[in-house]
Amino acid sequence: MRKLVLATKNAGKIVEFKRLLAEHAKDIVVLGLNDFPDMPDVVESGKSLSENARLKAKAISDFTQLPALADDSGLFVDALNGDPGIYSARWGDYLGEDSSQRDLVNINKVLEQLKSFAKDKRGAQFKAVVALYQPNPTGPANEKEAEGVLPGEIVFQPIGNAGFGYDPIFMPTGFNQSLAQLSPRVKDEISHRGIALRRMMPFLQTNL
Ligand code: IMP
Repeated sequence: MRKLVLATKNAGKIVEFKRLLAEHAKDIVVLGLNDFPDMPDVVESGKSLSENARLKAKAISDFTQLPALADDSGLFVDALNGDPGIYSARWGDYLGEDSSQRDLVNINKVLEQLKSFAKDKRGAQFKAVVALYQPNPTGPANEKEAEGVLPGEIVFQPIGNAGFGYDPIFMPTGFNQSLAQLSPRVKDEISHRGIALRRMMPFLQTNL
């Protein structure tokens, strides 16, 4: 049985990865936080999504001795010169444990920063880098990464209840609803994470 550990404690990401992997790789057993409750917090000391995704995948693979898949992702707002970018998770400096409260604080900070920007100046992208680290007892580890980008714009008020993070304020290009109003199936089809994971699938299928 092929096993893969999700190197994340983010409940929103876990839901999306499990859904995407169930669709594209039914034969892979996906393990996560429930199977490894002592999974360490990995300090995201990298300077890019790629560096952070790779270091999370390696740390969790070292801890579990299993292949690990990590995602580092973020919201890149044109008018904010790419912020919050790699700092998306902690943009509002919320230090508590409540993830919906953290999402709200982050969203409010972005909306506040963009309050004087008109609709045509509110372009943004979600980006995700998905990284796989597969230990190899007889040689160097197998490492692979893939990127996905979703273009869109930041709306003026949060709307919708689905998804997580900045979904309620992000309207993908070509849609007139926020990501938090779209069904999970549609989000998976268009999202930065869905795109990155589908790019990673051939490698997972061949190497896991
Ligand atoms: P990190 O990859 O753990 O550094 O966290 C990425 C952060 O970016 C998340 O905590 C969210 O705030 C945001 N983010 C990443 N992907 C999404 C998404 O699909 N929807 C909404 N927010 C996201």
